Amino acid sequence: MNRKTELENNLNDVKKKIATAAKHDVTLIVVTKSFPVSDVEILRELGVMDFGENRDAEGAEKSQIVPATWHFQGQIQSNKLKSITQWANVIHSLDDLRHFELIEKYTTHALSIFLQVSLDGAHHRGGAKIKDLYSLAEAIEKSSEHTLSGIMAVPPLSMQTHTAYAQLQQIHQDFMKEFPGASGLSAGMSGDYEMAISYGATHVRVGSSILGSRSPQR
Ligand SMILES: *Cc1c(COP(=O)(O)O)cnc(C)c1O
Repeated sequence: MNRKTELENNLNDVKKKIATAAKHDVTLIVVTKSFPVSDVEILRELGVMDFGENRDAEGAEKSQIVPATWHFQGQIQSNKLKSITQWANVIHSLDDLRHFELIEKYTTHALSIFLQVSLDGAHHRGGAKIKDLYSLAEAIEKSSEHTLSGIMAVPPLSMQTHTAYAQLQQIHQDFMKEFPGASGLSAGMSGDYEMAISYGATHVRVGSSILGSRSPQR
């Protein structure tokens, strides 16, 4: 089977499962990290508009070649932020006020921003503590340039996925009482996007179910 047919079949399969799981609008972000730009070009031809990357260098390169909505969902390093703010349209992983200050300093265009929350309060997979979400959100709301889109999380390895997503849904609902515009919930990857949707995810980030498995170190 050629690559286009393979990607098309996988994409259609994922889209069908999303449609079955969702009673609300869900944005599918295809995570192309570690895959070549030729795959991004094929997916763009197949109608994909949203791509996600975890690394600045890869995102910078691919976004120059393929115009689309580019999402950054990796852990943020300060020294990469200047570049990330240039190519990304959406950042899913803001968890530190200092990073937002740098974003404001480097701004070239408006960004949609999701705040990443850590569900176990630890920082292994990124994310702010629940109580720190509110001051971050206030800083974004004060900026005239950028939009607070919602909350993002990656379930901790130590937690049952169901428990993690139920907790995330509650955190998001509480958060929206203060920030009603932040209606996005970025949650769900290849292994659990249908479950995440059942807990209210509006943005799913799916890589390997569409592109195949990545080499472990990447
Ligand atoms: C890699 C990654 C994804 C996609 O993971 P798959 O399991 O390949 O679908 C989604 N979100 C984040 C934060 C990631 O790092």
